[in-house]
Amino acid sequence: MVKHNDKILADELVKATLLSQAKADQLLVELQSSGEPLHAYLIRQGIVPERQVLEKLASVHQLSFLDLKSMTIDKNVVEKIPVRFATYFKFMPIKIEGRVLTVATANPLDIKFQDEIRVHLGLEPKVVLVRDADIAEALNKYYGLAANTLDKLSKDTKKTTADESPAAWVEDLETNANDASVSKLVNEILLEAHKKRATDIHIEPYRNKVRVRYRIDGLLLDANIPPGVKPFLLSIISRIKLMANLSIVEKRLPQDGSAIVKTREQDLDLRVSTIPTPRGESMVIRILPTNITLLSLERLGLEERNLRLFRELIQKPHGIILVTGPTGSGKTTTLYACLNELNTADRKIITLEDPLEYELEGITQIQVNSKVNLDFAAGLRSVLRHDPDIIMVGEIRDVETAEIAIRTALTGHLVFSTLHTNDAASGVTRLIEMGLEPFLVSSSIEAFIAQRLVRIICSHCKEEVISGLDDVRQEIAATFKMDVKAVKIYKGRGCDYCNGTGYYGRSAIYEILVMNEEIRGGILGKVRADVIKKLAMKNGMTTLRQDGWRKVLEGITTVSEVMEIAVKDENWDASDVPDAAGLSSVSASEIPHFVLREITPEILKVKDDYNSRTYSRVEARVGIRYQVVEQDDNDMTHLTTDGVEHSSITKDVSAGGVRFVTGYTLPLGTILQLKIQLEKGEKSIDCLGKICRVEEDSVSAMFNLAAYYLDISSADRVRLDNYARAKLVGNNSSQGDS
Ligand SMILES: [Zn+2]
Repeated sequence: MVKHNDKILADELVKATLLSQAKADQLLVELQSSGEPLHAYLIRQGIVPERQVLEKLASVHQLSFLDLKSMTIDKNVVEKIPVRFATYFKFMPIKIEGRVLTVATANPLDIKFQDEIRVHLGLEPKVVLVRDADIAEALNKYYGLAANTLDKLSKDTKKTTADESPAAWVEDLETNANDASVSKLVNEILLEAHKKRATDIHIEPYRNKVRVRYRIDGLLLDANIPPGVKPFLLSIISRIKLMANLSIVEKRLPQDGSAIVKTREQDLDLRVSTIPTPRGESMVIRILPTNITLLSLERLGLEERNLRLFRELIQKPHGIILVTGPTGSGKTTTLYACLNELNTADRKIITLEDPLEYELEGITQIQVNSKVNLDFAAGLRSVLRHDPDIIMVGEIRDVETAEIAIRTALTGHLVFSTLHTNDAASGVTRLIEMGLEPFLVSSSIEAFIAQRLVRIICSHCKEEVISGLDDVRQEIAATFKMDVKAVKIYKGRGCDYCNGTGYYGRSAIYEILVMNEEIRGGILGKVRADVIKKLAMKNGMTTLRQDGWRKVLEGITTVSEVMEIAVKDENWDASDVPDAAGLSSVSASEIPHFVLREITPEILKVKDDYNSRTYSRVEARVGIRYQVVEQDDNDMTHLTTDGVEHSSITKDVSAGGVRFVTGYTLPLGTILQLKIQLEKGEKSIDCLGKICRVEEDSVSAMFNLAAYYLDISSADRVRLDNYARAKLVGNNSSQGDS
């Protein structure tokens, strides 16, 4: 027979057009035999949204429907109602007034538990309706995680193990670790951690307590574990060690292992590691989902221009794309998203990883293992024999790996890897510091992508920051050339939903340095990282800081998140740098040194004519090309160059010497092979020059180098002098002789 209560609820739902009459009739018949109440079935099957079912149910039974999450429950109430009782009957006590106990439940029709409250607690229950999931959460919150399991365990354990002999102790632990209740306790800790989106669990013993912490959105938070856990620490750790195939007898040495646990939604891959401490073993459990829904490039949080750049980059036929950032900055996720996008039937992709975190279908993944001498470098060499199109190397840690990766890229493969540097431009200097030849770096790398994670403001407690942070507002306004009054800043107040942190989830910010001729030239000239950064900014690169401010403006993250991870960019104005044509345009193709010329020792002894007043000097912008000359240590008259030609624009010219702009400095005394192009179409003036002055322009981070001529034909010297004099007259200026 159709249950009366269900019939009333069904009628109400049909009236509210939340359920069709036909479906209602069908369900009422079906549910006759199962005994499951209609509302529970509708919620479980997702036929009608939970909130609407519960609201109707409340109105049918004249109950209040409350949001348990937003309520604060008095400690006294929690203390009066035993955790076992509340857990068993799945209710949360809310308040006691006189003899009336208000209880929150999702099953108001369960009369039995109301009777139990009357009989065992001597109180009169007043029922309010709440969401089912909120009850479990409230029980955890107010009674502490796994309080019920712990409660049972304490009652079952009659004695502690502390005063027993070591042999008996071990056995006891084994039985304890296998004990159903201990394993339940462990499961509860793992599940709770997973539900809270924790990536690691840290179990740390101290003198008087055990600390259990979860890492959520990159930060450690105390898990709400009752102090009563301490006596079970050994059992808990032993249980987890058993799961991870570790020796539970060995406590003096660090151990690593892994285990897979099943949850309702998916399997979790646990990486367990222990280290001995004076107070017992300390354990860290990393939680990795075994089947991640791979992030697509769209969901990485890339701004429009950066997303377009990314797409172009990963479609390159060959070259290296390096993602840079410290540990935990989400580099792997970004690489996986790239591989995921490239993972089509016509491409062979091989990865070398340490550790191998996620399994990707259609991709050959290799776990690097130094114990069997399979490091990144060795792996890369053997991988090449499998003729891949795309290779991902987990990390470039040493020059050997870097060199093989570069050679791989130069032979027509697309290589992805990561590097441990703070920003994109320092990637260049890092590789050169490792010992790589600048020409290898400049010819193989397509892009350096720096990234960081910022926490996302919790949407449940987000609010605008009305006043303060004036400096930041100014900086943001200047970055986006907007009115400072239009800069809105947000933060999270902190609520139950976000564990009081004000944040929920993380998103990435990016700085994408794409190679161009100018930057390649800078790399060949071994310029500083900050100069490379400026060249890239001139080319349109958004810095980490700027990308962070964009996310602040969009209300995604807070000012403090950005301040923490991205340093302020130096003042920057594109007009500080000469136009692209003026800087080095270099072809890195012919690298080997070749003999430039033999000269007489007298040439090297020519006096500094740049600073002499013999010749008129004129400020003039003239095209100049130069190669850096190297002298043979044994024979100073034997000159060679690496064949790399740089180009620039002069600041001033005279028949004694020339001053020009570069993106990097060269040591005083460096000899250059110069080509000065006074007028278009004319034959250039070819000579040697020696650097006699270096001026750094702190605003533009560029350098002015002055060189005097070493071996110049007298005809060319006359040409230069005539040019300078004519210019001076033409300019009607008198500053030439300064
Ligand atoms: Zn919140």
